[in-house]
Amino acid sequence: MPRIVILGGGYAGVSVAVRMARSAAKVTLVNKHLYHHLTTLLHQPAVGRRGYTDMSVPLRDVLPDSVDLQRGWVTSIDRERKSVSIRTRRGPVALPYDILVIALGWEPQFYNIPGLSEHALTLQNLNSSRLTKDRIDEALIAFDENPAETC
Ligand SMILES: Cc1cc2nc3c(=O)[nH]c(=O)nc-3n(C[C@H](O)[C@H](O)[C@H](O)COP(=O)(O)OP(=O)(O)OC[C@H]3O[C@@H](n4cnc5c(N)ncnc54)[C@H](O)[C@@H]3O)c2cc1C
Repeated sequence: MPRIVILGGGYAGVSVAVRMARSAAKVTLVNKHLYHHLTTLLHQPAVGRRGYTDMSVPLRDVLPDSVDLQRGWVTSIDRERKSVSIRTRRGPVALPYDILVIALGWEPQFYNIPGLSEHALTLQNLNSSRLTKDRIDEALIAFDENPAETC
C-alpha cells in the first residue's frame, strides 16, 4: 500500500487528505497543532467581531477516520531516503513516504517597500490575529486617555 504523507493541516493539507482518503493509500497528515484554524475568518476576531474559540476546529473532526493524524513539528525532509523527520512530544519520529505533499503554509510579502515589514501587522494565524486585536485596543485606550497626543 503506498504511503502518502501530507505536511500541514491548513486548507491545502486537509483538502488533499479528504480526497486521498478515498484512495488505496495509507494517508498520514502531520500538523504542529491538533486543530485546523479558519484562516479566511481571522480578520473577525482581530477586530473583536468574533471570539477566538470560533476560529478553529479539531483536525480529527474534519479528517476521515482512515487518515492517520500525527501531531508534530516538521524539522527536515530527506528526499533520498524518502523520509520526513518530525519532533513530537514523545521525541523525534521518522515518517517514511512514497508520496509527499508539502502544504506548510505561506509567507507574507512586503515587496521591498521600506518600513512595511517593521511596521505592518500580518494576519496569518490565531496569534497574529490576537496581536492585531491587542494593538487596536492599545491604540483606542491611548486615544481615550490622551486624544490630543494620539491624533
Ligand atoms: C483574513 C484572510 C482572509 C482570506 N481570504 C481568502 C479568500 O477569500 N480566498 C482565498 O482563496 N484565500 C483567502 N485567504 C488566503 C488563504 O487563507 C490561504 O491561502 C490559505 O489559508 C493557505 O492554506 P495552506 O493550507 O496553504 O496554509 P495554512 O492554512 O497556513 O496551513 C499550513 C499549516 O501548516 C502547519 N505548519 C506550518 N509549519 C509547520 C511545521 N514546521 N510543522 C508542522 N506543521 C506546520 C500550520 O500550523 C498550518 O496548520 C485569506 C487569508 C486571510 C489571512
